[in-house]
Amino acid sequence: TNPIRVGIAGYGNLGRGVEAALSQNPDMQLVGVFSRRDPATVELLDSSVPVYAMAEVEGFQDKVDVMILCGGSKSDLPEQGPYMARFFNTVDSFDTHAKVNEYHAALDAPARESGHLAMLSGGWDPGLFSLNRVYGETILPEGETYTFWGKGLSQGHSDAVRRVPGVQRGVQYTLPSETAIARVRSGEQPELSTREKHTRECYVVLEADADADTVRHSIVTMPDYFADYDTQVHFIDEATFERDHQSMPHGGFVIRSGLTGNNNTQTIEYSLALNSNPEFTASVLVAYARAVHRLAEAGEVGARTVFDIAPGLLSPKDPAQLRKELL
Ligand code: NAP
Repeated sequence: TNPIRVGIAGYGNLGRGVEAALSQNPDMQLVGVFSRRDPATVELLDSSVPVYAMAEVEGFQDKVDVMILCGGSKSDLPEQGPYMARFFNTVDSFDTHAKVNEYHAALDAPARESGHLAMLSGGWDPGLFSLNRVYGETILPEGETYTFWGKGLSQGHSDAVRRVPGVQRGVQYTLPSETAIARVRSGEQPELSTREKHTRECYVVLEADADADTVRHSIVTMPDYFADYDTQVHFIDEATFERDHQSMPHGGFVIRSGLTGNNNTQTIEYSLALNSNPEFTASVLVAYARAVHRLAEAGEVGARTVFDIAPGLLSPKDPAQLRKELL
């Protein structure tokens, strides 16, 4: 059978991750990358893959089976998603939880009209974590669901640290509280405040004349960002910063704690420890691109999420092989 022909729309961290993930899936083939920037300035991991101007994308309707949308959720996808769904089957990682139904509707109409399938909000949260929340609360209707994030790099909080006078370089990691996780695992079903669920950790390189105590105080008391959390600030030198703080780790836990029958405690736990958030998210999107291609071939149209797509469709293996090896 012919490989699934994939396009990448938007080439940032996620786009680069999709390129890398496609090279691990021999049943898929990268047709090209589409960017709003001058293609000559966009450098790919594999220089033999063509880069095209986004303005040319409509001409690729018959050359691309699935377009993986790698733009930002804030302003790129709300515009690019509905546009692309007119011409392609699409997969994206839209993560603005508060606007998900609005975005679903904005994709569903053009996808149905043009006969395409548009999968939104793939990735891990939303995505794999969402699936685990559904399994948890459906199987254990009497109980509580907990999501903890981290250890993870937070872009917004890192920016806030870097704006503090005296900070030359800085990153912020969000960590799940070990105490809180232990309480949840015990079956206690605690009510946890924001402060109790996560702690924050900053790594800072100071400017030459900066005072460490002053900088620490400015960070830990910063309203909205740090004041409501237990925050640790570590001062490190430039070389250590370069060596240890260049990756984009993330991950976390989804835990459902519930009771069945005669008050038996039951716990479901799913966890991710990711060294590269964008590369992992991209790997999820590529698996869903395979499923979307199969469903589109079978004639399905409209918007879909992880809730609507059967897990076997993600696998390159056929159903009989899956039953034999993994059931
Ligand atoms: P990013 O690196 O900022 O890239 C976003 C877009 O910015 C790219 O598509 C690219 O579009 C443009 N761009 C990238 N590098 C550029 C540069 N040097 N100069 C000018 N423009 C540049 O964002 P990202 O890290 O890939 O993340 C994309 C989205 O993924 C996030 O907004 C987030 O919502 C989502 N996400 C979801 C999950 C999940 O679990 N669901 C997890 C992680 C991330 P052009 O090529 O067209 O210029």
